[in-house]
Amino acid sequence: KKADNAGAKLDDSKLIGVTVDKFLDFPGWYSQILTKGEMLDYYDVSGCYIMRPSAYAVWEQIQSWFDARIKKLGVSNAYFPMFVSSKVLEREKDHIEGFAPEVAWVTRAGKTELDEPIAIRPTSETVMYPYYAKWIRSHRDLPLKLNQWNSVVRWEFKHPQPFLRTREFLWQEGHTAHLTFEEANQEVLQILDLYAGVYEELLAVPVIKGKKTENEKFAGGLFTTTCEGYIPATGRGIQGATSHCLGQNFSKMFNISVENPEGADKPKIFAWQNSWGLSTRVIGVMVMIHSDNKGLVIPPRVSQKQVVIVPVGLTAKTKKEVEDAIYEGTSKIEKRLKDIDVRTITDLRTNYSPGWKFSDWELKGLPIRIEFGPKDMANNQVVAVRRDNGSKTVVPLDELETKIPELLETMQAALFQAAKEKFDTHRVIVNEWENFVPTLNNKNVILAPWCGDGDCEDDIKDSSAKKDNGEDQDVDEKAPSMGAKSLCIPFDQPELKEGQKCVKCDKPAIQYCMFGRSY
Ligand code: AMP
Ligand code: ZN
Repeated sequence: KKADNAGAKLDDSKLIGVTVDKFLDFPGWYSQILTKGEMLDYYDVSGCYIMRPSAYAVWEQIQSWFDARIKKLGVSNAYFPMFVSSKVLEREKDHIEGFAPEVAWVTRAGKTELDEPIAIRPTSETVMYPYYAKWIRSHRDLPLKLNQWNSVVRWEFKHPQPFLRTREFLWQEGHTAHLTFEEANQEVLQILDLYAGVYEELLAVPVIKGKKTENEKFAGGLFTTTCEGYIPATGRGIQGATSHCLGQNFSKMFNISVENPEGADKPKIFAWQNSWGLSTRVIGVMVMIHSDNKGLVIPPRVSQKQVVIVPVGLTAKTKKEVEDAIYEGTSKIEKRLKDIDVRTITDLRTNYSPGWKFSDWELKGLPIRIEFGPKDMANNQVVAVRRDNGSKTVVPLDELETKIPELLETMQAALFQAAKEKFDTHRVIVNEWENFVPTLNNKNVILAPWCGDGDCEDDIKDSSAKKDNGEDQDVDEKAPSMGAKSLCIPFDQPELKEGQKCVKCDKPAIQYCMFGRSY
């Protein structure tokens, strides 16, 4: 099976890897590591991208983790059509107002103009809820908890970014209906905890949980909870995933109601509804945080492959028996690791040198490389090299099954710790307005005492945008001068001093709010 390559010339030229620096040209770096690392490719429809297998594998890990947990909460998967009539889409006024500018419409089939244009779902509240109204007949039909794994289309005009902001994206959207507010409210937070779990346990990305302000909440909802991440290289915040309590707004519009269980003479009850979504944006956040100038760094728990075995130390002079023994060795190592469910491959390419292969797997972000050569064979060992810090560990062959999984978990934890330390040191409490913009400019997000007023929030955004040419630069993604948005009101609050004023206006502060430039 192995081509006999004794004497063949191996390519040991330096692999042409990432040619831009993460800290000098972040967007250029991000684009290169994704394409050269073979996670993603560009597509000829702007704002749409191809997720290659190593990206899709991350999504699959997330799917299986999250899916198992929502099923424990009693959620079932279903599938609704991607098309929605304008009549239904426009039923909830605030909702459509929020989404209208981004809705894509089908107006023609072949050469025939449609009588009425049909929208492509930007989210499925209006697709699903007419059927919730039909299916929920009595309080015994509650709660109804459905989820779908699908894609949605939002024709965004802001600068698109692979994974973070795309015109079509994959996500899950959960839609549930409950008899009481308490039950709905409890679920909103349970789901938010699962979202934080996806970030922290799978992607090694720390997040801050909190509530969106009224300005930033989901269109048509009662309140929105969110987990917010932080990209150290740019100092910008990013909305991680959102879990919305819709209240009774939609149930009133769509007439999702049941008779009062306390008696037919009591007023009927409109269902309390939630919707919650986590998209493939998470992959971009993970990549931006952990990866470096050598390429991608993918956390072990979600990496398509976790270990690559590279035969080393074979030269034209190596005896045939030794070479055969090395390949037999790598094949046994691969089998032993696969037997304990470590996702493993062996790089048997004969036209590349080990050094070239090392760079190639570093570019692709594989967590651990195992080197095995004649010296290792003689010593009954392998050398394991971590992608994140390049550290080498000699692992005795008979300890493979314990040491390699341990090393993967150590790396997973180290990635999280490093990211958490950066987020913790760049989340700065600012009480005085004069320190607000300078702190932002130092790539921080800010915790500031705030009055809770929407106009004040807008004022903070305007006043923190640098308008040196008189124009609002908010639209330019590369400009570090965009204004600070409110990211969330963290559940975990710093103590508010007696009589503390809002960071921006003269009103009393009612809580700390996290502000930042954001994606
Ligand atoms: P929303 O329904 O607006 O609350 O969005 C749900 C989640 O999808 C958000 O928390 C975002 O993380 C994500 N999301 C929103 N818009 C996009 C987009 N254009 N591309 C990728 N992810 C998105
Ligand atoms: Zn204020």
